[in-house]
Amino acid sequence: MTNVNRIVRLGLVNAYLVRENDGLTLIDTMLGGSASKIIAAAEAGGAPIVRIVLTHAHGDHVGSLDALKQRLPEAEVIISTRDARLLAKDKSLDPNEPKDKLRGSYPGAKTRPDRTVDAGDRVGSLEVIAAPGHTPGHVAFLDVRDRTIYCGDVYSTLGGVATSAKVMSIMPLALFTWHRPTELESAQALRALSPALLAPGHGKVIESPQEAMDRAIERAS
Ligand SMILES: [Zn+2]
Repeated sequence: MTNVNRIVRLGLVNAYLVRENDGLTLIDTMLGGSASKIIAAAEAGGAPIVRIVLTHAHGDHVGSLDALKQRLPEAEVIISTRDARLLAKDKSLDPNEPKDKLRGSYPGAKTRPDRTVDAGDRVGSLEVIAAPGHTPGHVAFLDVRDRTIYCGDVYSTLGGVATSAKVMSIMPLALFTWHRPTELESAQALRALSPALLAPGHGKVIESPQEAMDRAIERAS
């Protein structure tokens, strides 16, 4: 098993298994009904899922969290401090946040996070990168070993590399973006990290993605 292991459902939605010395970190849980596929992928890789981390609280990323936690009770569940509130179905906004409407599905989950994280925290080899905008507490994860960025929905690569700050590709993620100016700033922040690989929530993994990210930012600006 390499570090980056993409699991796809319906050709549209991704989760990733990241190899660590103590087992696997699962990034996102896809839609409901994905638990068996994810567990089978981990078994094929020969290692247990020891952590489940979430980029954000939208339904196509947290949909199988409860089913997975039931089958993997030992796995530590981790989400950003801000999106933990959305996972608990609290859709209130903070006084200092833009008052834009929260878009997309926030089905919540029965599972409570074991740990909440903020920018700069570490989850195994992954550094937590603040990437708000698509949701208020969206985060990305930078694997410091190989500079892969697991960008959640800050970028999509379905139908070409695009940000979710503007409706561009066949996957119009921007329709579900809470605050587009903030999302564009996050897209720029991830670009500034010069990732070696871009691993999005939707679409294939892109090698040496810098130029494509530049073009995506330009088109959304
Ligand atoms: Zn998504």
